Amino acid sequence: MTPPRKDPVYVTQPHLPPLDEFIPYLETIWANKTLTNGGPFHHQLEQALCDYLGVKHLSLFTNGTIALVTALQALRITGEVITTPYSFVATSHSLLWNGIKPVFADVDPVTLNLDPARIEAAITPQTTAIMPVHVYGHPCDVEAIQTIADNYNLKVIYDAAHAFGVQDAGGSILRHGDLSVLSFHATKVFNTFEGGAIICPDAKTKVRIDQLKNFGHVGEVTVVAPGINGKMSEVNAAFGLLQLKYIDQALARRAEIAALYRELLAGIDGIRCLQDAGERVANHAYFPILVEPGYPLSRDALNQKLRDHHIYARRYFFPLISEFPMYRSLASAHRDNLPVASAATQQVLCLPIYPDLRNAQVEAIAALIDIGGAPEARTESQIEAFA
Ligand SMILES: *Cc1c(COP(=O)(O)O)cnc(C)c1O
Repeated sequence: MTPPRKDPVYVTQPHLPPLDEFIPYLETIWANKTLTNGGPFHHQLEQALCDYLGVKHLSLFTNGTIALVTALQALRITGEVITTPYSFVATSHSLLWNGIKPVFADVDPVTLNLDPARIEAAITPQTTAIMPVHVYGHPCDVEAIQTIADNYNLKVIYDAAHAFGVQDAGGSILRHGDLSVLSFHATKVFNTFEGGAIICPDAKTKVRIDQLKNFGHVGEVTVVAPGINGKMSEVNAAFGLLQLKYIDQALARRAEIAALYRELLAGIDGIRCLQDAGERVANHAYFPILVEPGYPLSRDALNQKLRDHHIYARRYFFPLISEFPMYRSLASAHRDNLPVASAATQQVLCLPIYPDLRNAQVEAIAALIDIGGAPEARTESQIEAFA
């Protein structure tokens, strides 16, 4: 007889509210027959997110990638944009979709965010903007980036796809730069199945963004720009309103899991847990560790060991964006230009973290990583906790 298969543990699992609580929202949509185009739930979610996040203006989108593409159009960005190779590929794809040349600069060894010291050297007469990413929800060095932008008259668009709910000492991290873009994809801290948003500082910019996400329409018969269809539907917006009721609970559980990992992994030679980057409120969107030379296994061997126990950690971000075929011929994509990112991409492993992950599962994962620690028998019994 084959033993029962253990439930796999993935790097994330989407948070879903009780299904019966969603039915009344659907009944409302069925009654009023407004499915999209800025209906009542769309309006309510924009307001509720402004209140929750502590931002002034926010425009909902069908996903984060279309929001990034539109953010660049809203500010009429052209030429070259300085960005990070250490991100999800959508970051620089949004530049290619606008005919903009990405220029990669290296990341900071502690935060793995775009290194301000490397930005200035990458500026050319064609540079019009900087697109940094708050990787893992850890804030970029926003002050240094703004100083460079001011000195060279550049726009700053933050890819804040990981940074839902993150605050620094002055409030929401999303208030920095000219625009910030969120993703509400299923894998993110706050999800609407698919979705995203642009955060902007003034009402005038929001009007332009709202036009661009609706084909460039400004009225029944007037079209002012080659806009796209980036609108969020009423079903997604309604779902977002319900999700928002559970977000504090979800973030609190993530914080507990992160603290437990840190405690259990603290003494292991060669395992470095990435530290927070000065946030006052963190969101624990990911739990990245770096597998350094002092550890007995390579990153990939450790990843395989976890997989053998049905634990599917992920190598975010491997490979670097600059290594994909549509980018690798750029001069800035050369590894010599990106030594820190190139090292990190070989060492990083994101461990499972999501609100429904149980402490016993975290303990079992940590025991597998702690090779010199727990005897194998104990590890095996902890793995049984998955069944
Ligand atoms: C998820 C993600 C995106 C894309 O968002 P979608 O909503 O999936 O389109 C962009 N940038 C980063 C860094 C992401 O993690």
